[in-house]
Amino acid sequence: MKAHDGFYIDGAWRPAVGRDPIDVIDPAAEQVIGQVPAGTAEDVDTAVRAARAALPAWAATAPAERAARLAALRDVLTARKDEIAETVTAELGSPLNFSQAVHAAVPIAVAASYAELAATHSFEEKVGNSTVLHEPIGVVGAITPWNYPLHQIVAKVAPALAAGCTVVLKPAEDTPLTAQLFAEAIHEAQFPAGVFNLVTGIGRIAGQALAEHPGVDLVSFTGSTAVGKQIAVTAGAAVKKVALELGGKSANVILPSADLAKAVNVGVANVMSNSGQTCSAWTRMLVHTSQYDEAVELAITAAAKYGERIGPLVNARQRDRVRGYIDKGVAEGARLVAGGTESPRERGYFVSPTVFADVTPEMTIAQEEIFGPVLSVLRYEDTEDALRIANGTVYGLAGAVWGEEAEAVAFARRMETGQVDINGGRFNPRAPFGGYKQSGVGRELGAHGLAEYLQTKSLQF
Ligand code: NAD
Repeated sequence: MKAHDGFYIDGAWRPAVGRDPIDVIDPAAEQVIGQVPAGTAEDVDTAVRAARAALPAWAATAPAERAARLAALRDVLTARKDEIAETVTAELGSPLNFSQAVHAAVPIAVAASYAELAATHSFEEKVGNSTVLHEPIGVVGAITPWNYPLHQIVAKVAPALAAGCTVVLKPAEDTPLTAQLFAEAIHEAQFPAGVFNLVTGIGRIAGQALAEHPGVDLVSFTGSTAVGKQIAVTAGAAVKKVALELGGKSANVILPSADLAKAVNVGVANVMSNSGQTCSAWTRMLVHTSQYDEAVELAITAAAKYGERIGPLVNARQRDRVRGYIDKGVAEGARLVAGGTESPRERGYFVSPTVFADVTPEMTIAQEEIFGPVLSVLRYEDTEDALRIANGTVYGLAGAVWGEEAEAVAFARRMETGQVDINGGRFNPRAPFGGYKQSGVGRELGAHGLAEYLQTKSLQF
């Protein structure tokens, strides 16, 4: 695969001579497909300086011009959508049709939404005798994960640029080629030099240097809870704004009035897609005791169907982690009814679609984020019991409720979570996305996502 031996800083690819390269591995073939340089604290400093230097002019650029650049970015991403899908498939391993339909298409929709928002958002408002200005926060340090490599980048960079901020991006080690392709798209879309900068590298070196850098005004991070907590402490000590998206353990609540087969089938597909590497996946299915056995049978059938379509996990470490959780589920007394730790293929970091029945709310597999194709089916006695189980984790990122609509909405209102799909409601790239409780701080997407990158200044008259 095409890979740049450099960092995109101040509008050009700067050679990274003598840097230790990071191998990029195709997780389906277990083969090295490229190398990118690992940035140091010095490289991060160069990138932050470029972003700071570009900030005054970009912040002063008329919103209509910022919108025009974002529209150009949307068009470049659209023109290169096949290449995006192929790159994501090569380094993440997701099946090509999923890469096309989700990994390429969703970021295009998000870029389009910010092209429009930048043009229409009111960056000034009247409040009595005051004029309130909505100004860019400044230089953004964006640190992204590998699970939706382009979406996670666009969901941070597009609103930041729409707001008038400048950005330094440190993408995940496993998926840097998609990030390089994004930097090429920024270049083609003719953003001014220094407005967007890319430093590939290792989290605890380049990522940490970015989070700690005094020239960064806001750190936006998506990834593991452990690293997120560390970043919050670092940013807090420097009185920097921080946005965190840290995963979840979402509940798929099937009320007795639901279309059971549809709820189970969509629920299984939701957990298995992207090989379960989705922070908002509904990994706990809650079924009324009267329908429990039927739901488990339906889930087994749905998981078996998914078996041929599933991609590998991103790397051997993640595969081993997921297998560890499966072993733990068995050890704690859950009933393994589909899948398991056996590898379904000779090569690649694959885990079969796995379903556990007789899972109780306190089990590890019902509490911790597994980040693999593993579904837990839990039983509830009545609505209050379902609610207690649904809200009974430290997370609160997403969820689903199936049933008669008014009843489902009433249940959703009582859930401690940032997004709920009612009867299979589809993804909305403009609806705010983000967590209650330990799922994070802040919101991404739409106008709420834009607001994260703005601060107010009140002028009194
Ligand atoms: P991670 O948190 O280690 O990595 C996410 C990003 O943070 C990467 O760019 C990484 O390089 C960077 N990073 C790592 N250490 C850093 C540090 N000390 N300072 C600054 N940046 C740092 O996540 P991971 O190891 O890729 O995945 C581990 C687990 O995290 C997964 O199993 C899953 O549970 C969770 N996860 C959640 C999401 C999500 O969307 N919320 C995405 C990916 C992973």
